[in-house]
Amino acid sequence: MSEQWIYLGGEFVRKQDAKISVYDHGFLYGDGVFEGIRVYDGNVFRLEEHLDRLYNSAKSIMLQIPHSKEEMQNLVIETLQRNELKNAYIRLVVSRGVGNLGLDPTSCAKPQVIIIAEELALFPKELYDSGLEIVTVATRRNRPDVLSPKVKSLNYLNNVLVKIEASLAGVSEALMLNDQGYVAEGSADNVFIVKGKELLTPPGYVGALEGITRNAIIEIAKELDYIVKEEPFTRHDVYVADEVFLTGTAAEVIAVIKVDGRVIGDGKPGVETKVLLEAFRERVVEEGVKVYS
Ligand code: PMP
Repeated sequence: MSEQWIYLGGEFVRKQDAKISVYDHGFLYGDGVFEGIRVYDGNVFRLEEHLDRLYNSAKSIMLQIPHSKEEMQNLVIETLQRNELKNAYIRLVVSRGVGNLGLDPTSCAKPQVIIIAEELALFPKELYDSGLEIVTVATRRNRPDVLSPKVKSLNYLNNVLVKIEASLAGVSEALMLNDQGYVAEGSADNVFIVKGKELLTPPGYVGALEGITRNAIIEIAKELDYIVKEEPFTRHDVYVADEVFLTGTAAEVIAVIKVDGRVIGDGKPGVETKVLLEAFRERVVEEGVKVYS
């Protein structure tokens, strides 16, 4: 790729010049919100839903985004155009901005909007064909009554700890349980288990983010006559499932073939996972906000 352009401080700057102040409260306190969005073949997938979630997260933490949703949509599109990207991952960050060393966000004069777009495959390509081995980690999901998973904030420390535990176990992703021991989600993806034609995924109140990929899969699965249930389940249910897969904007849809040493199904990506993945791949190039007319 030639030069990479990043939207920062109200303008487009080169990657090497995209720097923020050490007094930005996003950096000092994780005080901010973000979204990860994907563009497939020049169509931004579910941009409206991502912007709704971003603005809801911001409202919940009393962060005033200095752009309307329409302006933000145009900025996302412009970032892709400037970088001549048709297939990419977009990271949209709104931090509280520059303040003093105190926690009080009233010292922050203006929120900082950052948009980065680049090509990204979260896991090596062969894992999308062969499936992932994962483990359950000791790090628990934040309790929803302490920090709602609906707020996609810059507080991702427990998600980072999940990744550290996963790497220590020699795998690239892991499952987090909630404080009651129910399966919540992965470090940055939702989890589904399959039993026959039935799909189960943890509901929001268990501690899962209501992922946009998750919701797309639920929609597709219902159209394809699967029974979809948003219900709490335990590690045991995962171990004895016919199939397990993860969904997320960065991860997309990826099969899981081993959990905590237990082989799932016959140890290969399952039939239903493949059906849903194919339908998802068709859907993402068909719908979406067009970047190039
Ligand atoms: N859970 C967490 C904690 C996440 O960060 C993400 C990524 N946004 C997801 C689930 C998947 O959500 P989505 O499909 O909207 O990317």
